[in-house]
Amino acid sequence: MGQFWLETLGVAVISIVTALLAWFFLDPLWSLMGLALLLLFIWHHLHQLSRLWHWLEQPIGTPLPAGGGAWEGVFAALHRRARHAAEERSQLSIALERFRHAAQALPDGVVILDANHAIEWFNATAEAHLGLNPIQDIGYPVTNLLREPDFINYIQAGKYAELLVLHPVRNPGRTLALQVVLYGAAQKLLLSRDITQIDKLEVMRRDFVANVSHELKTPLTVVSGFLETLLDGLPELSAEEAQHFLTLARDQALRMQRLIEDLLTLSALESSNPLQSDERVGCADLLAEVADEARAISSGRHRIEVGSAPDYSLLGSRSELRSALGNLVSNAVRYTPEGGVIRIAWQPGADGGAAFSVSDNGVGIESQHLPRLTERFYRVDRGRSRESGGTGLGLAIVKHALTRHQATLEINSELGSGSTFTARFPPQRVAPMVQMVASNLK
Ligand code: ADP
Repeated sequence: MGQFWLETLGVAVISIVTALLAWFFLDPLWSLMGLALLLLFIWHHLHQLSRLWHWLEQPIGTPLPAGGGAWEGVFAALHRRARHAAEERSQLSIALERFRHAAQALPDGVVILDANHAIEWFNATAEAHLGLNPIQDIGYPVTNLLREPDFINYIQAGKYAELLVLHPVRNPGRTLALQVVLYGAAQKLLLSRDITQIDKLEVMRRDFVANVSHELKTPLTVVSGFLETLLDGLPELSAEEAQHFLTLARDQALRMQRLIEDLLTLSALESSNPLQSDERVGCADLLAEVADEARAISSGRHRIEVGSAPDYSLLGSRSELRSALGNLVSNAVRYTPEGGVIRIAWQPGADGGAAFSVSDNGVGIESQHLPRLTERFYRVDRGRSRESGGTGLGLAIVKHALTRHQATLEINSELGSGSTFTARFPPQRVAPMVQMVASNLK
């Protein structure tokens, strides 16, 4: 800056001195020289000024023109400033980009709204949650796009401390929790979280409590009814009649006991840690045990066929495996009329694993019921299940116990012809018997 003023002052002083000399000596040559110097001085500055003006009209980032004389310093200072501003801009845009990436990566949906609820920006999760279109929907009021009355009331009421649970029309089958957060002057962040799974669990929990209450209520009502009858009419009742009522009451008590036992088994399976046990359970022993159970439940009413004993063992929990396979066998007996055939067998799996199957030629199941059979309390025929002592929890227990062993349950059935339930164990759960003997000897 100093150089600029020095140069300007220098030229001005020379011009004035020349003009004074011209006036003093009345010499036209000096006058012309003074005038020429002044014009040169003015032209030089105007020329540099026009170059600066021209540069200012160019896009940001255009290199500065090289200045002559004192203007060199002015241009250099401007150049430094422009470079500094460009650096700041680029740092800002890097920070902004970083922020956008972070907001994009959020597992929750984020929509930025202006004071009039018009959409300014949203991340990919919000796009998926709310069915928004990044090309068409920017700038439009969010209430034009999400037209659910509950959402419009929520946005307009302004009670943003509360959450709104929404089943969006644009994303059927999902449940979202929405919340608005105020920031800045009058801007808003609309946050969305997918709570479909939590919602389903809540519905399941409610259904479960209702089902258990219902299952216990019926036998309890029967038991208290019989006790009432006995209390009121004991003197007049014959011994046979009393015995009859007491037997019926005991049956109902046993039903409740079975239900509680199954509930406890299920809850133990659900709440315990992933299976750690590597107990070696002999498949032949399991087969013999469940065959005995089938014979006991059948009491000679069915033909029980047992496949040959395999020479491998399963790695897992003996009690859980016993409970799962026992439930399959018990169902086969209970849903097969007298005279039917039940076949229990182990087969080697194609993948190196092993499969336990129970086939019957009983009542069979219509295909529409198959996907839901392992749900708690799901029964095809409620009456038949109860008559045969069912709790509606057997297959849920089977599924949980098998899942804990990375095993799957396959169900094939045809109404009126019978069913086959197959539990497939993966290769890592199956060990040859030789290894078992060897490890037991260690
Ligand atoms: P339940 O205690 O009622 O037997 P489960 O969970 O064991 O409950 O079975 C669910 C339903 O699946 C039963 O109510 C029954 O309708 C059907 N089911 C299970 N096993 C068989 C089978 N072997 N044959 C026909 N239906 C079966």
